[in-house]
Amino acid sequence: MKFPVPPSVIPLDNILPDEPLLMMGAGPVPIPHKVASANSVVINHLGDTMNKVIDQVKIMARYVFQTSSSHVMGVSGPASAAMEMAIANLVQPGARVLSVCNGVFSRRLAEMVGRVGGEVVRLEVPEKECARADAVAEMLKDGGFQVLTLVQGETSNTVWNRELVEICRLGKSHGCLNVVDAVCTLSTMPMEMDDWLVDAVITGGQKGLSSIPGVSLIAFSNDAWSFIEKRNAPMVHWCLDARLADQFWDKKAYHYTAPVSGILALHEALRLICDETLPIRFRRHAVCSAALQGGIEAMGLKLLIPPEARLNSVIGITVPEEIDANQIRHLMSELHKVEISGAFGLNILRIGQMGEQSRTHNLFRTLHALGSAMRLEGGKINLPAGMAEMERILASGV
Ligand SMILES: *Cc1c(COP(=O)(O)O)cnc(C)c1O
Repeated sequence: MKFPVPPSVIPLDNILPDEPLLMMGAGPVPIPHKVASANSVVINHLGDTMNKVIDQVKIMARYVFQTSSSHVMGVSGPASAAMEMAIANLVQPGARVLSVCNGVFSRRLAEMVGRVGGEVVRLEVPEKECARADAVAEMLKDGGFQVLTLVQGETSNTVWNRELVEICRLGKSHGCLNVVDAVCTLSTMPMEMDDWLVDAVITGGQKGLSSIPGVSLIAFSNDAWSFIEKRNAPMVHWCLDARLADQFWDKKAYHYTAPVSGILALHEALRLICDETLPIRFRRHAVCSAALQGGIEAMGLKLLIPPEARLNSVIGITVPEEIDANQIRHLMSELHKVEISGAFGLNILRIGQMGEQSRTHNLFRTLHALGSAMRLEGGKINLPAGMAEMERILASGV
């Protein structure tokens, strides 16, 4: 035996905080109790019980994606694995792809296109703006694009691509398959896959759906599926091969051992969405996000993105120059047990409004924690005005 002495470690209880932190960042988000308890169950990955679960997950996912396509599948992996599955299956080596780039996640799609041998052309969207349909139309004129990629919400800088419907229509009319990343937005705002002519919708578990990280969902349109069935270039990814995944998700046969607990968790997350219904869920998110945004501004802080391009699912806050965003996060976590996010290198803060984050009790605790941490750091903050404004917006329901 080369290493005869086992390592000595401390139990998990001594690592985790006594009281769970309230997860109000850009994901993962808090999960409902039903989701957590489903996640603690292990069942056989093949057989009647799992088949029933899979059938229901697909039926519910179709409602959430607003599609009649039967090519809806789970992906064992982060949302990035679902992104890679869309790209790897729809982009053959040499294919021209137009990637609309607003920030980290939309650029990740472009990067993935390059890695599978696609010829990527990037449309770089100016900072703090959403992608414009006329700019996309201009690029598409060059012709020859087979795939178009974009995000619905760019979590990294909190921009909402509000012209997505128009952009997808353009993509389709130029013969593109439209790939849309709806990781932070799905079930927090409308996404109508069929009506909006989207060919692949990608989502993760840990954001809008309020499930666990590591088990994701993807839906392919019938157009996307005919392309996948006909494609002749070999698929370099075995796990992410949609035709192999279809063996499990459609034919109930073995591909790889599915993450059964995570799929049970996803089942419960989707069921709670169906119980709530999409219109009511969208409204809850819209009101909660508006209340939080109003409260933050009334407190004396500025939001990062102007209203016309602002995402509701994740709110970006400009941190005053003399204050360090990381110190604010540290204070909020230590003193108030509330976790929010920084950003990739910018002095901003991000607060999520996805799934369970959009609950009034979570909003008050978060806004209070933010305001009092800012005050401790010397910020000129009117905390009572912020709380009052939030209360007012919640009560008026606008
Ligand atoms: C979080 C996020 C991702 C990546 O999700 P992972 O689960 O970390 O891979 C991709 N796109 C968007 C828009 C996101 O918000």
